[in-house]
Amino acid sequence: MKPNITLLRRTCRQATVLLIAREDRRLSLPDRIALKLHLAVCKTCPKFENQVLTLRAAMGRWRHYTDEAEQSPPRDR
Ligand SMILES: [Zn+2]
Repeated sequence: MKPNITLLRRTCRQATVLLIAREDRRLSLPDRIALKLHLAVCKTCPKFENQVLTLRAAMGRWRHYTDEAEQSPPRDR
């Protein structure tokens, strides 16, 4: 039996939804494979992925920054 590759086919819209969902939760294995396949053949979605990763990095720094601010002792004036 031939593997049904259309099960793993995603539109750009679906890939975008998966890229955003990936930030909040772990994707299922079929979704991860489908997303990887789509990113390999699509020209524009990898650019969007880069933007999401840039945002994630920026948010990570921001979270770290607020953690530091909360942990530092209050300044005397
Ligand atoms: Zn795409």
